[in-house]
Amino acid sequence: MEVTGTLINYYFHCKRQCWLLGNRINLEDNSEDVRIGKVLHELKNEGKKNTEISIDNVRIDKITEDFLIEMKKSDADTEATKWQILLYLKVLKDKGVERIGKIEYLEKNKQDKKIVLVELTEEYEFQLENLIKEIKTFIITEQPPQPEFKVKCKKCAFCEYCFI
Ligand code: SF4
Repeated sequence: MEVTGTLINYYFHCKRQCWLLGNRINLEDNSEDVRIGKVLHELKNEGKKNTEISIDNVRIDKITEDFLIEMKKSDADTEATKWQILLYLKVLKDKGVERIGKIEYLEKNKQDKKIVLVELTEEYEFQLENLIKEIKTFIITEQPPQPEFKVKCKKCAFCEYCFI
């Protein structure tokens, strides 16, 4: 299975979630929170050009002359988002397109919007390559890690699957 940006994100967010999605167990469409995220996303993109671009196994929110832009509704998991963006930057670079990653957190009010920039350095490229190998090996393990209840589980599409 190809490692997507979502899989990388989940690997940092919750390894069990990564394993489930990597093994094609996907309950995301049933999640109210995911649906709210999608609506928020669509509203933000309404009438704008260059939105939702798919290249290979990644889906990019928006690309401009200088930036690859990813929009998130929360800054709760910045490390996960950073590696997701680094994968996107690498896929683009391999196609001859070099950009700086820009993460915009949408849930903040507009005056106070948080923006984080991410650059694909040589060191990050090396780490990313290892990370992708690590995730591929992890996904083919026989069982997912046992669920551990944390606050984030309340908003996770797999909550019922893990705990009921
Ligand atoms: S409910 Fe919690 S343990 Fe289960 S996949 Fe989601 S975040 Fe992970």
